[in-house]
Amino acid sequence: MARVPSGRVHNLINIAAYSVLAAATLVASRLEAVVVTPAQGLWFTLAYAAGTFLLSPDLDLAEGRVDSKRHWGVLGVLWVPYGMLFSHRGWSHTWLVGPLTRLLYVALIVALVLGLLTYLVPGLTLPTLPEPLSWKVAAPLLVGYYLSQWLHLIADGVRPDHGARRVRRK
Ligand SMILES: [Zn+2]
Repeated sequence: MARVPSGRVHNLINIAAYSVLAAATLVASRLEAVVVTPAQGLWFTLAYAAGTFLLSPDLDLAEGRVDSKRHWGVLGVLWVPYGMLFSHRGWSHTWLVGPLTRLLYVALIVALVLGLLTYLVPGLTLPTLPEPLSWKVAAPLLVGYYLSQWLHLIADGVRPDHGARRVRRK
């Protein structure tokens, strides 16, 4: 079996990379080479942390015991179907589709919970988003999330054409 980093090692790699990036961004903005607003930094950081600790590609092992499932506490059981659905280091570990599968999975669970709530509590009004998500928010969120995922894949030794090669081999 190939040696792959454990959840703890992945977390350490991502934290180290974040520290370097944060320091570099700080220096670059001092030199006025880049402009990062506090809000952009916050959205990036939140998405990066969520991607590192809550939405790791290794949730494809959630039918068993895995670090990223433990971070969800009791809600970790929600990831068991995901773990059964996706084989370890399969589609879950592709560069573009992989991170997307976990976002869609969360969206699906949220939709199911909200659907159930409105069914059980008739007349319940759900809070609506104040305005459509603007790119000012969406861009740092996406960059932060995808970067955290790609660092995991790089540490796993997964190449960006992973999905394509798998399909071709079949
Ligand atoms: Zn992995």
